[in-house]
Amino acid sequence: LGKGNFGKVYLAEHRTTKEKVAIKVVDKRAFQKSDQIQHAESEQSLCEAFATRMKHKHIVDVHEVIADDHSIYIVMEYMQGGDLFEQIRQSAYIAEPVARRWFREIMEAVHFIHSHGIVHRDLKPENVLIDKRQHLRLCDFGFGKKVAMQQQVLKTYCGSPFYASPEMVTATPYKGPPVDMWSCGVILYLMLTGTLPFQASNMGQLFRKISVAQYTIPRSVSPDASNLIHRLLCKNSRERITAIQCLQHPWL
Ligand code: ADP
Ligand code: MG
Repeated sequence: LGKGNFGKVYLAEHRTTKEKVAIKVVDKRAFQKSDQIQHAESEQSLCEAFATRMKHKHIVDVHEVIADDHSIYIVMEYMQGGDLFEQIRQSAYIAEPVARRWFREIMEAVHFIHSHGIVHRDLKPENVLIDKRQHLRLCDFGFGKKVAMQQQVLKTYCGSPFYASPEMVTATPYKGPPVDMWSCGVILYLMLTGTLPFQASNMGQLFRKISVAQYTIPRSVSPDASNLIHRLLCKNSRERITAIQCLQHPWL
């Protein structure tokens, strides 16, 4: 079904019930660095929590996590609609009424994980899946982390550069939740316009644009939606909107 940085995802079928599932296989032998092993173990333990006590209607439903010496197998619900990236690519952009419903679903999931002290750190459309009834679920907790205290400061650079926040690209120690909110701002911008807010011909230029939050919103985007994007793509992480505030924003 897909392939990312750390795993391959296969479509599988239960022999007796014929139920289709998706299985993500993470090969731990491919990891050399200790932080990669830590990320794999963190993904395993978060998925174990999602499989048992932390179900949410907008987080991918994990049935079971199986681990042996060299691999982790995450058995989850098969999401027929594929991922949001593919959807945006096919339709060029997402019209506001649909984008509004989808963004609300993403925010509900993000609010849920943040309120449980979990940060995702790799939010992007490839990690948002669509089910057969056109509802969304977050997946891929490969960079996810349980933070001991709300205020815990993190240092690891994570995720895709296009979705990385100013504090991430300037290697400033950061608090987790605002980093996820920035990435959601990039997702919202991409949904509504079909283009990324920060683009450049090289990484240095890209990071400079991100670090000063230099972007413009096309006039085709409604004023309320533009306002929400500005509140999300806010350079100062302390002033950036939170998930719960987002759910109360007029555009939603
Ligand atoms: P990685 O950590 O390697 O990025 P992901 O968990 O993001 O792995 O999975 C890679 C891709 O596989 C996703 O972007 C998506 O396209 C596809 N995929 C993942 N899980 C499912 C699922 N449950 N149903 C359908 N497709 C999936
Ligand atoms: Mg992924």
